[in-house]
Amino acid sequence: MRIGTPKEIKVHEYRVGLTPAGVRELVAHGHEVLIETGAGLGIGLTDAEYAAAGARIVPDAEEVFATADMIVKVKEPQPVECRMLREDQVLFTYLHLAPDPEQARGLMDAGCIAIAYETVTDGRGGLPLLAPMSEVAGRMSIQAGAHAMEKAAGGNGVLLGGVPGVPAAEVVIIGGGVVGYNAARIAIGMGARVTILDRSLPRLNWLDSVFENRATTLYSTRDAVESAVMKADLIIGAVLVPGAAAPKLVTREMLKSIRNGVVMVDVAIDQGGCFETSRPTTHQDPTYVVEGVVHYCVANMPGGVARTSTFALTNATLPHVIALADKGWRQALIDDPHLRDGLNVHRGRITHRAVAEALGQPY
Ligand code: NAD
Repeated sequence: MRIGTPKEIKVHEYRVGLTPAGVRELVAHGHEVLIETGAGLGIGLTDAEYAAAGARIVPDAEEVFATADMIVKVKEPQPVECRMLREDQVLFTYLHLAPDPEQARGLMDAGCIAIAYETVTDGRGGLPLLAPMSEVAGRMSIQAGAHAMEKAAGGNGVLLGGVPGVPAAEVVIIGGGVVGYNAARIAIGMGARVTILDRSLPRLNWLDSVFENRATTLYSTRDAVESAVMKADLIIGAVLVPGAAAPKLVTREMLKSIRNGVVMVDVAIDQGGCFETSRPTTHQDPTYVVEGVVHYCVANMPGGVARTSTFALTNATLPHVIALADKGWRQALIDDPHLRDGLNVHRGRITHRAVAEALGQPY
């Protein structure tokens, strides 16, 4: 099969759909790989490295889209890319179609086979192609929060790990899933005192056994959230209610009782945020202050560490890319029901129930 990866064109997107190591695997499986010139340059992956791995470097996206049987990307196709997609061409990338009828129409009109990273499942009910980005965002939330706690950044001037004779910061993590667990690991590693709230008892059991006495676990009620955030220096919002907007667990009213300079990092901002006062921000201007409390609400945190994120993402996507290339999309989806869950658009029709319902399309 001929597989193509264009340079990402969404603003400030430096990740890339295939690494040179991925290219080498595909070439070893007998496939041809086209990479748009400069596709990986933003994260230090040169054309020479791709060429050495066996890729053919092509001058523009038009040639990638016109030649490849399957396009492997990172972000949802932009309108200009949708127009280049061809009938029966396979597109494997993040789509996030539910809130995006314009893109859905573009993919349906193209007649392509669009498989979305975010709806591929695994045998344990997880979303294995979303998890790597949650791992990145969770770990990054502590480093972003620690930076925002510095005086010059508007914070309260508390050092996360403290020093001998001075207590460490209190970190409160609301939601102990993939983001929350990874945030806790880094906060504990930096010497902070950590409390994790979740409303899943099995998850609290698991967190308790993993962290033993290095973190406090709390069942998440309004009471528990309210009293935990009052004593925090850094609050991480990491809840997810699948298919729903994030619940507003820290209200504007509560901010009045939170000390000035405390930092709140709302990782759940891509689902609307779990703090009432959250609004999306960017890496260029990541924080703002409400009632003296610093808010960090960057909606695409992994984009800030695009090199790590690219390797983390492609580790998870590559086995599927290889299966799709080796077997052809149809057989690969027949053989693997979890990959089949990723099928969102097939020749002009939405084929994922939740996505179809969100878009008001027939299923
Ligand atoms: P997850 O499903 O692994 O974990 C979510 C956890 O929240 C679950 O353990 C669940 O029990 C818990 N929860 C639900 N309601 C709760 C409540 N009322 N109180 C406490 N806990 C509650 O999800 P995840 O992968 O950790 O993702 C968390 C959020 O981070 C999602 O909204 C995801 O989209 C977002 N995210 C954002 C970025 C970014 O760049 N901003 C990057 C990756 C993920």
